Amino acid sequence: MSRERGIGLGSPARSAGGPGAGRLLGPLLAAGALGLAGWIAWGGSGHPSAEIVQPASVVGRATPLSLRVDAGRAGLRSIDVRLEGGGAAGTLFSKQIPADGLFGSGVRSECLDLVLDGATAGVPEGEARVVVRASDWSAIGRLRGPGEILSIPVTVDLAAPAVTPVTTTSMAQRGGSAIVVYRVTPDAVRSGVEIGKRRFPGRTGAFADPTLAVALFSLPWDAEAPIQPQVYAEDAAGNRGRAAVILPVKERRFPEEKIEVTSTFMTVKIPELLERNGMKAPADPIEAYLAVNRDVRRKSEERLREIGRVTAPRFLFDGAFVQQPDTAVGSRFAERRHYFFGGKPIDEQTHLGTDLASVKLAPVVAAARGRVLWAGDLGIYGNAVVLDHGLGLETLYAHLTDAAVAPGQMVERGATLGRSGQTGLAGGDHLHYSTMIHGQHVDPVEWWDGKWFRDRIAPTLASAPAAPNVGDEPSDPDPAVATAARSGCAAGAATAAPGTVPKAAAP
Ligand SMILES: [Zn+2]
Repeated sequence: MSRERGIGLGSPARSAGGPGAGRLLGPLLAAGALGLAGWIAWGGSGHPSAEIVQPASVVGRATPLSLRVDAGRAGLRSIDVRLEGGGAAGTLFSKQIPADGLFGSGVRSECLDLVLDGATAGVPEGEARVVVRASDWSAIGRLRGPGEILSIPVTVDLAAPAVTPVTTTSMAQRGGSAIVVYRVTPDAVRSGVEIGKRRFPGRTGAFADPTLAVALFSLPWDAEAPIQPQVYAEDAAGNRGRAAVILPVKERRFPEEKIEVTSTFMTVKIPELLERNGMKAPADPIEAYLAVNRDVRRKSEERLREIGRVTAPRFLFDGAFVQQPDTAVGSRFAERRHYFFGGKPIDEQTHLGTDLASVKLAPVVAAARGRVLWAGDLGIYGNAVVLDHGLGLETLYAHLTDAAVAPGQMVERGATLGRSGQTGLAGGDHLHYSTMIHGQHVDPVEWWDGKWFRDRIAPTLASAPAAPNVGDEPSDPDPAVATAARSGCAAGAATAAPGTVPKAAAP
């Protein structure tokens, strides 16, 4: 109906002279006026509106801000986000939405997850405001142009938090572990160690000096050489400070192994594992195998990293870890495995733990004092137990027949966690044992070595007086990361910021 009226508007009135023309002119003009009125009414009020989805009160060099902008039926035409203050102004974000024919863009709502870079606006540090202007394609909106629809009072802060390493492990090796104590200014909301894209969150509160923080980290087995750790710190406005950690990292090569997959494994174990993990078994046995060895493996690692988010703010153990009693080391950490079936290569993966062989149904014991984070099915790891030992350090006990512990329980070193088995992606009864830092696998051998612990980890932790009464209650060491992941347009959470001033469209 509206569309017909619109077309009426575009048709020129036949005003040529001649008998009867006068009689036609009146109704045509009336129809035209009606059409115009209808089109104007249809298009909407010309007042787009904005709502804050994820607020910002401080704008820095990488500040997240999520907004939803809504318009009438004719749709949005433009959205501009500017920073204004101290006599200066600059554009932070700008978007034009072209018309799709006579009736406007039809885009009635846009949710924008913005990362504002306050440094680009040329606005001095201090009080300012983020101003959102928008226009729509309605007749009124076309005449009026963009109007201010939202003004958010903010503070511009472009200074990064300061972060400096104080003391660290004297030397480390690829695939191994290290620790750093660093100083960080109180404006930091998160800090830690980063190596490439990997992050190892650190925490303050462990030392009597509140500006000192500690981070345990790995020298990832697969990181690009040379491995160069850095301490980083971020404030609420997304300003980042960083500094290199001077730590010599010894390179090493990891072993290679050839594995022939048996047809019994293909036909019995693989379909069972796919079913357990809620996946349909592909008809081709090699494809089915790859679905487990690649997809279920990847999901299991993601799950492990999620489980490892929660950790105690201090080490829950003292001294070295124990290797399982009466076990022989089979496959080693970071061994590159080449899988063959019927003599043909089908896959390659890296073994991220140590296999320990003993008798069938051997008791599996805790390598050190810790808290049970997980006890249950864990993809390729089958029945598994994960222990938290504090500061992001965890151990994994996989392929168990059964688990004798429950999540939340504290266990002492040597306590029985369950019995060995071959659940998950295992061809025979053995314990797959892994050591992790924030879900990243490290070589377990170092942690079994008391001298290594005394030389490389303990002195760094003891370099500053400890804070009294640090509890062992687990918590997320980097809560800001979790908050950021949950908010924004993608999460669809509408939380209006206090102190924001929504405005009607300006004329
Ligand atoms: Zn293994």
